[in-house]
Amino acid sequence: MANKAKPTNEMKLVFPALSANESFARASVSSFVGLMDPKMDELIDIKTAVSEAVTNCIVHAYRNSSGNIELTAKIYPDRTVYIKIKDRGCGIEDIGQAMEPLYTTHPEEERSGLGFSVMESFCDDVKVTSKPGSGTTVTLRKKLGIKL
Ligand code: ATP
Ligand code: MG
Repeated sequence: MANKAKPTNEMKLVFPALSANESFARASVSSFVGLMDPKMDELIDIKTAVSEAVTNCIVHAYRNSSGNIELTAKIYPDRTVYIKIKDRGCGIEDIGQAMEPLYTTHPEEERSGLGFSVMESFCDDVKVTSKPGSGTTVTLRKKLGIKL
């Protein structure tokens, strides 16, 4: 997912993994990506994917602990947006399994196991790296169309 060009704009946020901060993350990303004059549906897709990734940090990564979420967003000259959501929580043992549709470690909490599927369908690419005990990084990529 490397992009050789220099970003035309970038930002970084660090905030504690509190459920109130899910809407903060959505709104912040929305106003940052909004500077590119995206189409409404593209912005909704990005906000939804970010919500899923941030929620996962809150409900899974820091389930029995607390910690920060780092969110980085970069925009490149070809209008590709990269958003990285990083936690230092429990990590994921088997990323392939975690990303399968309907797989959840918490069915008893009415989790549907569709967070990663939503991210994948609303973005052009989703990359996950993780180390058990160290944390997880999710990188979302989406190319914005030209607004007419
Ligand atoms: P839903 O998103 O539909 O409410 P879910 O969160 O269980 O349910 P996914 O978002 O697809 O489903 O995540 C699948 C599984 O991957 C989770 O059940 C959890 O075990 C694991 N997981 C996801 N993100 C993280 C994370 N940041 N840290 C640790 N584990 C994670
Ligand atoms: Mg989820």
